[in-house]
Amino acid sequence: MTTTPTTATVYQQLKGHLDELKLADAAEALPGILDQAQAEDWTLTHALEQLLAIEVSATEKRRLAGRFRFANLPTGATLSNFDHDAASGIDPNLLAEIGTCRFLENATNVLLIGPPGVGKTHIATGLGHAAVNAGYRVYFTSAADLAARCHRAAIEGKWSTMMRFFAGPTLLIIDELGYLPLPAEAASALFQVINQRYLKTSIVITTNRPVGAWGEILGDTTVAAAMLDRLLHRSVVVTLDGASYRLRHHATAAEEIRRATTGTNLR
Ligand code: ADP
Ligand code: MG
Repeated sequence: MTTTPTTATVYQQLKGHLDELKLADAAEALPGILDQAQAEDWTLTHALEQLLAIEVSATEKRRLAGRFRFANLPTGATLSNFDHDAASGIDPNLLAEIGTCRFLENATNVLLIGPPGVGKTHIATGLGHAAVNAGYRVYFTSAADLAARCHRAAIEGKWSTMMRFFAGPTLLIIDELGYLPLPAEAASALFQVINQRYLKTSIVITTNRPVGAWGEILGDTTVAAAMLDRLLHRSVVVTLDGASYRLRHHATAAEEIRRATTGTNLR
């Protein structure tokens, strides 16, 4: 004679299956879902859908958090908190267009060129933010840090691992090219990183130097030309100008202090 398992046993088995499959969020939600299903007379299909939806949304949230951790974005700057009125030289429509991340689909690069403080890193970080939210793998680094890591990897015999690492993300953001001159070895590492991504995955670069001056930054006009050839082949070049956003605040503060101390409006 077969015995019908008690409800409690079936429940334990179901909970056991969810645990075994590591569906922790569904397992935790199970009692509540069953209670609600009974109270509201849900169909079996609806109850199963509700249970699995909880697990799917928890998984998506964990993946998103993981992508943000990996991306190494320096600040919470986003494209929506970029103030267009304060920026000069950038077309809001162009920014909105690259903000859709469509450029990642055909491995287009974005070059953000302009003097210090005009929002290059802000935009690059905002693009990274948008790309992570859209489900892409992003990695943010400075040119100096990339060079230092490649240098260390070469010494430790881990060059190819490092190259694979920089080839991996769909979007690689290289900040602050040109602030420090790069030694020949660093320029060559940067070239290799760019070359292996060429036509496959996108790079966003921020620089304070016009492309004509890259020979100086890289200490080698041939490497600079080869690098620009690859970077610009499929690219959006955004040139920002105008006053530094950082100094804008300093200027306002300085003026307020002057006004307070002299009692006159110096403007
Ligand atoms: P850059 O990389 O060009 O030197 P940043 O992007 O680091 O400049 O900008 C300097 C600071 O000013 C950052 O805190 C940035 O968030 C802010 N900033 C610059 N431009 C804008 C803008 N148009 N709207 C809002 N914040 C801005
Ligand atoms: Mg910057």
